[in-house]
Amino acid sequence: KTASEALLIQQHDAQRLYKPRGKFSHKGTFGHCLVAGGSYGKMGSVLLATKAALRVGVGKVSALIPKCGYDILQLGIPEAMVITAENEKFLEKTTIDFTPESICFGIGAGKEEATKEYLEQLLKERTAPLLIDADGINILAENQELLNYLPEKSILTPHPGELKRLLGEWEDDFDKLEKAKAFSLKYKVIVVIKGAYTITIADKNLYINSTGNPGMATAGSGDTLSGIIAGLVAQGYDATIAAVFGVYLHGKAGDLAAEKLGFEAVIADDLIQHLGEAYKSLF
Ligand code: AMP
Ligand code: MG
Repeated sequence: KTASEALLIQQHDAQRLYKPRGKFSHKGTFGHCLVAGGSYGKMGSVLLATKAALRVGVGKVSALIPKCGYDILQLGIPEAMVITAENEKFLEKTTIDFTPESICFGIGAGKEEATKEYLEQLLKERTAPLLIDADGINILAENQELLNYLPEKSILTPHPGELKRLLGEWEDDFDKLEKAKAFSLKYKVIVVIKGAYTITIADKNLYINSTGNPGMATAGSGDTLSGIIAGLVAQGYDATIAAVFGVYLHGKAGDLAAEKLGFEAVIADDLIQHLGEAYKSLF
């Protein structure tokens, strides 16, 4: 067995990961991403992830949300399609009539029993590659038996609080990485440890991101990252590459936004607005 490697991901790495768009492509070429999440008072998170998935280049996005979010999503992002669960205020099992190329589950979702059951169903059905964030991670942390059903190469994107719920307390940064690496190996999943210098752990390797800034410490910032990574997976990027490249693009968009606006004024939507320039900065 080879030892694990730690790589700092810089512009030239991101350049190599980027897949140019073919002249004769059509929206079917770039996949259909399902963003499932939201609850009463937290629909903005789904709106941000949905927008981010579209801006990163996905062909189509459907948002699956509780009924109360219908107008918010349709008005907030007319480019997306919207499916509503039966329940007014939280997400629950819902039949969809297409097979998405990726599913982003859990942002703004809450932890209702019905929401947990829906996650359980998605894990067991293995319909599409899964990215699990926010309350999706919190549900897994509280129902650790579900971890055994995680499809291989699922992507988890915890912030420090979510990571602690998932792994338990750690002693120091080294211990945190060791625990996260063991988790990633045990369940064969990709763990994106978010923060300054976000670290993606996959196949016992560590990918340390070089972009990003404190302006990104703002509500909704992580929701845009989830949309970006799930959007890349739907376009056919391998899950590890989608995570590493998505984190890079997200940070670069944040750097470009902060250059114009200053750290304090950056809000999550600015990250989405700068995704185009982030792509263009690669070349
Ligand atoms: P969340 O807490 O889920 O909204 O995620 C926050 C997002 O912002 C993650 O992608 C973090 O990596 C990023 N972020 C937060 N604080 C910083 C920072 N000081 N420097 C760089 N990125 C940050
Ligand atoms: Mg978050």
